[in-house]
Amino acid sequence: MWRKDFQPGRRPGGGKRYLLPGGLWILVVVLNILAWKSKAFCDFYVIHIYPLWVNTYSRAMGIFSFSVGEMMVIAGAVLTAAAILLSAVYGAAWIFEKQRDTLRPIGGAKADWKHKNRNGIRKFCKGYFVVYGWIFTGVAIVMTLNCFIPYHCSTLEEKYGILCRGTEGGFAEGSSAEEGFAVIDLLSREYTLEELIRLRDYVVIKTNELAELVERDENGNIIYPEDMEGELIACMQDLGGECGQLAGYYPRPKQLTFSGFFSQQKMKGYFFPFSMEVNYNKLMHEINRPATICHEYAHLKGFMYEEEANMIGFLACIRSSDLTFQYSGYLSVLNYIDNEFYKAIGKNKEIYLSHVNISPRVRKENIFLEKDAWEKVEARAVISTEVVDKVSDKLSETSMVLNGVEDGTLSYTRVVGLLLHYYDGSPEVEETLLRVQAIPADPETTSETPSKITSVMNTIEVQENTY
Ligand SMILES: [Zn+2]
Repeated sequence: MWRKDFQPGRRPGGGKRYLLPGGLWILVVVLNILAWKSKAFCDFYVIHIYPLWVNTYSRAMGIFSFSVGEMMVIAGAVLTAAAILLSAVYGAAWIFEKQRDTLRPIGGAKADWKHKNRNGIRKFCKGYFVVYGWIFTGVAIVMTLNCFIPYHCSTLEEKYGILCRGTEGGFAEGSSAEEGFAVIDLLSREYTLEELIRLRDYVVIKTNELAELVERDENGNIIYPEDMEGELIACMQDLGGECGQLAGYYPRPKQLTFSGFFSQQKMKGYFFPFSMEVNYNKLMHEINRPATICHEYAHLKGFMYEEEANMIGFLACIRSSDLTFQYSGYLSVLNYIDNEFYKAIGKNKEIYLSHVNISPRVRKENIFLEKDAWEKVEARAVISTEVVDKVSDKLSETSMVLNGVEDGTLSYTRVVGLLLHYYDGSPEVEETLLRVQAIPADPETTSETPSKITSVMNTIEVQENTY
């Protein structure tokens, strides 16, 4: 729109001022073409150049205690709405003026005043479009550097095949891609239903056990570490020892000011590429917080794919010595794997319930928002949750498809594939399943009444998002 001001030849050298924005747009286009065409370029960029922005821009955003990205989104929406409105006014006035001047030429002092007034409006509009154009150019550059290029990198497993292998004590010794680890063999493997079920049962057992092991107060509420954020940064940095892209500086996460609005979108967290801030929903059940923050940290470090951010968030949490983080990690993948299992068995409730059940305590805590938090969100909602959720889903889907993720938001579920690779051949899964089989079944969790069955079914196929 700012190009409207371009009138070549009107004054000597007038076109020169378009050299800079023109050059910047050529750069944006070239970088995006390179990103779509060359993984090697994107990988090089993310390893060698992208950390510069994390260390400077993201660090500078730490000066502000609130989420600058959120304010940028609001400012962007207001500026765009104003630009659309001004375009309409400007266009209508121009047409009206043309028609009137043709029919009835105006003259005299009154006409002069009107003419000056019109010129003033015109100047204001032009000035606005120039400023808007510059902001738009800035956003295109920042989004290209902080989001569009990283979106086309090699996958997590292509880069760090070592992450495919889970062992009880951490990464398998000597199994890195550089040392000849045949990642490709693992990636092309197809898994049987039995393997999926074994992994699902393992995740359920781990989650159930951790729910009992985490420290709680006298009311049964989980006690969280005092400096949760600092400890989560340490978890990510630990993972950075094996996965170099995750090493280095992490800013403190920020609470979303409009957490109620984000709750309506079922959003647990948000990484804003244009402000390089990691944000989380302050209203959600706190057990979601560790895995959500680590998920967003993965995006900050250039892992844009949702399933990879899910996997990194999971790994950072379960490798922590803090049981609360471990519990959050297993909970973060529970719904994905449980849903896949349920679909794979043809949604057969009898088969579903014949397997290890999600414990009542886990079911109670495997939630996005507590009931009273939801009620507050609904009471303060300006637009209905249904509409907000639908629009948000559509925007997320579109944004992901435009960035080359063909299955859009379904890609979150691909974390199940990454988990199957990770635990492929893991003795820990085997040992855990054998250990639990040796324990006599608890009648409380195995013989489900009809009402319990319904509540079990309600916990599956419900997923919230973390962008
Ligand atoms: Zn995400």
